[in-house]
Amino acid sequence: MKDSHNRVIDYIRISITDRCNLRCRYCMPEDIPSISHDEIMRFESILRICRLAGSLGIRKFKVTGGEPLVRKGCLPFLKELKALPDTEQVTLTTNGVLLKDCLPTLKEIGIDGVNVSLDTLNPDTFFRITRRPDFSQVIDSILSCQAAGIRTKVNTVLLQGVNDGEFFDLVHLARDYPLDVRFIEIMPIGCGRQYRGYNKDSLLPLLVSKYPDYEYSNETRGNGPAVYITIPGFQGYIGFIDAIHGKFCHQCNRVRLTSDGLLKPCLYYNSGTNLKELIRNQADDEQLLSAIKNAIYHKPTEHQFFHTALEGPEELRKMSQIGG
Ligand code: SAM
Ligand code: SF4
Repeated sequence: MKDSHNRVIDYIRISITDRCNLRCRYCMPEDIPSISHDEIMRFESILRICRLAGSLGIRKFKVTGGEPLVRKGCLPFLKELKALPDTEQVTLTTNGVLLKDCLPTLKEIGIDGVNVSLDTLNPDTFFRITRRPDFSQVIDSILSCQAAGIRTKVNTVLLQGVNDGEFFDLVHLARDYPLDVRFIEIMPIGCGRQYRGYNKDSLLPLLVSKYPDYEYSNETRGNGPAVYITIPGFQGYIGFIDAIHGKFCHQCNRVRLTSDGLLKPCLYYNSGTNLKELIRNQADDEQLLSAIKNAIYHKPTEHQFFHTALEGPEELRKMSQIGG
């Protein structure tokens, strides 16, 4: 469906848990209380929302977290999501730690792609960023995705003074393997406020100095706002997602569902429609549909990340609680 700004909204990011087996410093503090089991949306309810959203034209589903694969029942949920009448695409965003063992099932389900977050190729830096020693599992998972023939993207957040010395090593993953590498600009949400990152305008000149024959790609390679370039001899593409500096709100196509049932029309604002409460209050499909429609229609014009006044309307949750 279209929102009041005439944007086609056809994509939802669904966070199925706020829990995670890593603790990336820019995303989550070490100690953070998890949402209680009572407060987490049941898969049954999420599927109900997805079915209704599908009838409104939301056809692409990204399952995220926290870490989606730590939630028991994630794979059967993905299978059911894939089988909904209006589903066109189901993809997963994961830190890759538990991914390898899930690949045969994901392949069987017909998953349309997997995004693996990896910020470094150095095990020590991995530990420094994630506070966990699981680097080799992640690499193994990425390589196994290739072997399983699952479309793979690596998402990297490049941070000043942390992993920025590895820019070209990360770029070269797309040379050496048939996968896309995307550099995500750090967003000032939660723990992310403590870090400084990079955007396309700072990274592209570096890349061009080494690979002057690059070209912009017009291909659609995902659901989002990434700008992609191709480099001769590379198997995958390099993407840049500039949420802050490359403000793409005018072409935003998405809404988000948090694991505690809030339908968030914009990542920035600390607001949304509490669908869990509606479901608990026995809303019928018509009432639920109307709430979803209303939330989408009134999607805000744009984020306000440049104005970071503490008393502002911006999101106070951590990224792990929203799903990225
Ligand atoms: N655990 C999964 C993972 O890491 O892919 C899924 C959830 S995680 C919140 C989704 C994405 O958000 C990851 O690629 C992560 O790097 C990114 N992310 C987390 N905090 C961020 C921030 N403050 N700014 C930009 N990206 C962030
Ligand atoms: Fe967990 Fe993903 Fe956040 Fe890292 S970025 S702490 S893997 S939710």
